[in-house]
Amino acid sequence: MGKILITGGAGYIGTHTCVELLNSGYEVAVIDNLSNSDRKSLERVKQITSKEVSFYEGDILDSDILGRIFEENKIDAVIHFAALKAVGESVEKPLDYYKVNIAGTLELLNAMKKYNVKKMVFSSSATVYGVNNPAPYKEDMPLSATNPYGTTKVFIERILDDLYTSDNDWAIAKLRYFNPIGAHESGLIGENPNGIPNNLMPFITQVAVGKREYLGVFGDDYETRDGTGVRDYIHVVDLSLGHIKALESLENKKGSEAYNLGTGKGYSVFDIVKAFEKVNHVEIKYEIMPRRAGDIAESYADVKKAERELKWKADKDIEDMCRDSWNWQKNNPNGYK
Ligand code: NAD
Ligand code: UDP
Repeated sequence: MGKILITGGAGYIGTHTCVELLNSGYEVAVIDNLSNSDRKSLERVKQITSKEVSFYEGDILDSDILGRIFEENKIDAVIHFAALKAVGESVEKPLDYYKVNIAGTLELLNAMKKYNVKKMVFSSSATVYGVNNPAPYKEDMPLSATNPYGTTKVFIERILDDLYTSDNDWAIAKLRYFNPIGAHESGLIGENPNGIPNNLMPFITQVAVGKREYLGVFGDDYETRDGTGVRDYIHVVDLSLGHIKALESLENKKGSEAYNLGTGKGYSVFDIVKAFEKVNHVEIKYEIMPRRAGDIAESYADVKKAERELKWKADKDIEDMCRDSWNWQKNNPNGYK
């Protein structure tokens, strides 16, 4: 046990990870500039856990506040979520993405080095497998990216590998998330996208709650079971628990290791729509639209390495994910507002 610094801890995956860490007996400090989140999310974390988080509102690009956090807290390890994450926006604003994601990570790593904190869990993404590898994706496949967001994840993974090569005291876990959905079962925290959602599940829940008329299904002519895109959806609580297992692994394992965090199962867009309708007794209207630029037919994980080395496995099924996503959205139709 010890104190963990969570960058981006007020966000979707960050809040869920705060809850699981606090429930497991860790202390938590958070830095978040609230650019894509609301401070109420951390009040909800407190409501769920009855425990306090040391919250610093600030930017990971600001070395002064990073220094202050390491001075004021005895940090044992960092979980690094803070990033910009919208693929389409990254094509429009590549400099913003390179600055926040890459320069931000460099500031953080420099501060960690200065204060001799050499354990990091990093949020990577299945997007690093690019478009040329066949699913299921294995950690040793070649990495590539087709947009600036993905490129930042590929670069940061490389930076972390080079850092470990230069100093074998570092212990780094690069977690490649597949498609996180769902929410804490309390319905108090969940995904809260600004504007029109880019991702499938928040779009579906907004159709269900009446904020959007219908779901646009991006292509029904892929080479998949039913023609729609297939992804490996993972419950955000399972994903958060994977971070705790990764932290524990860093206690006695130095290196810079990548792990897939997924279920290993692929579900199509239609599978998700049907499962959502079945468990929640609501209708999701949809229309078939053209394919979305850059999308691939299918993406799912080979999960053996995480099972073997982290002793972690996703537990919740697609119905749990659909039920919990809806529970959050229906209790919070306007997110934290
Ligand atoms: P999120 O946007 O909900 O959380 C990110 C948090 O970082 C937000 O609270 C935001 O305010 C904060 N932030 C952004 N820039 C910052 C800065 N410069 N300084 C301080 N805080 C800053 O996103 P999320 O879904 O929780 O994703 C967390 C991480 O996981 C990201 O690195 C993302 O790229 C990665 N990831 C997410 C998914 C997904 O589908 N959600 C998939 C793969 C990887
Ligand atoms: N998708 C869709 N309509 C939407 C959003 C997504 O049909 O409004 C499809 C998308 O083409 C993909 C799947 O749903 O096959 C998951 O998309 P998401 O953006 O959630 O994740 P990613 O494509 O980044 O894996």
